[in-house]
Amino acid sequence: MRYIDLSAEEKQNLLQTVKKEYDEYLKQGLKLDFSRGKPNSYQLDISQGMLDLPLGRSDCFSEAGLDCRNYGILDGLDEMKEFFSQVYGVPKDYISVGGNSSLQLMYDTLCRAMLFGVYGSEHPWCREANLKWICVTPGYDRHFRITEKLGFELISVPMKEDGPDMDLVEELVKDPCVKGIWCVPKYSNPTGNTYSDETVRRLVSMECGARDFRIMWDNAYAVHDFDECGDALADIFAEAAKYGTEDRIFYFASTSKITFPGGGVAFMASSLNNKKQIEPFLGAQTIGYDKLNQLRHLKYFKTAENLRNHMLKQGAVIKAKFDITLEALASLGGLGVAEWTAPKGGYFISLDVLPGCAKRVYELLKNAGVTLTAVGATHPYGVDPEDKTLRLAPTYSTEQELKLATSVLVCAIKLASLELLSK
Ligand code: PMP
Repeated sequence: MRYIDLSAEEKQNLLQTVKKEYDEYLKQGLKLDFSRGKPNSYQLDISQGMLDLPLGRSDCFSEAGLDCRNYGILDGLDEMKEFFSQVYGVPKDYISVGGNSSLQLMYDTLCRAMLFGVYGSEHPWCREANLKWICVTPGYDRHFRITEKLGFELISVPMKEDGPDMDLVEELVKDPCVKGIWCVPKYSNPTGNTYSDETVRRLVSMECGARDFRIMWDNAYAVHDFDECGDALADIFAEAAKYGTEDRIFYFASTSKITFPGGGVAFMASSLNNKKQIEPFLGAQTIGYDKLNQLRHLKYFKTAENLRNHMLKQGAVIKAKFDITLEALASLGGLGVAEWTAPKGGYFISLDVLPGCAKRVYELLKNAGVTLTAVGATHPYGVDPEDKTLRLAPTYSTEQELKLATSVLVCAIKLASLELLSK
């Protein structure tokens, strides 16, 4: 029965019962972390084989005969580009292999745009007034932070099941001050939703007031299906080619959540026009990235198919964690106090509680020793105006810890909702 339909007395009685349950958790002195989307050590062990492989002298030469122990090559080994091209389905020529972090490539890309503009800009972005950026919300806090730090006004656009609210996006981009949009198109952080073909088509075909408008296409979870039945995402470059808008796209990904976060290989893919504009600045920034790590990844995976099988092993581990979380949330079904997503891949579940309740749930969990991602982190400027969205990151905990953490979560949601409805 929905809590809202209970009589005042029923609510009071239930509140006392749930409060007692919560007090029991308080006594347990728990210390559980449900906050960041990190793999746990078992998942990291799946990739350990890569570090166990010897990288002897003869392994250190590229196919073209380059000694990778030395300087040389700015935008990555040819075979690394070929590999990424096969795994991600992006044109090989568009790829620039970077260092260990795609987020860093995104930050560099926007800093460069501020200082020098992008292909097609009349001048550096920092010379323009009232710069604005579209943030699909709920979204990834670190994206929002980049554009906030660079001085953009952040504009929220709601994330729907099939991607951003495109009616609103199409309206907003008519304003020439709106320079771009953050997108996590597959298993979005945090809702886990994937953009529909129609959303991708509308993004590449919409009329933009800014002729140097950019889509930051962060495909961080492109290959992170739980099993063979994952979501399919349209090929954005192929779609853009139909409308002549390929220059609009800056595509990013990395192996952070394929092998080792912080120890993987990142890349950026963009049109040849964009690449040509970027290269001189890249050459001023670095002599070249870590080619030995590229070789290590290539030696370990060899083929795109091996990587897919590797990801299925990871997916099975993650799915078990998601199932535990979803099973716990299912006990809230019918109470009318929460809604959540059930993704087919990725790292996150987005949970909406009653408006005005999220901070209270966070506080109740914190007091019981369970850390959640800070409320508001999923929104621009760190503020969730409705105080209702929580991001759940089930991967880092063990299954045992997760069972406990999710039962405290369910109890805290019940308690916070009853407190609110009893006011
Ligand atoms: N993009 C998204 C959407 C992410 O969720 C994360 C990691 N949490 C990153 C980028 C970071 O990627 P990297 O390690 O390649 O910087």
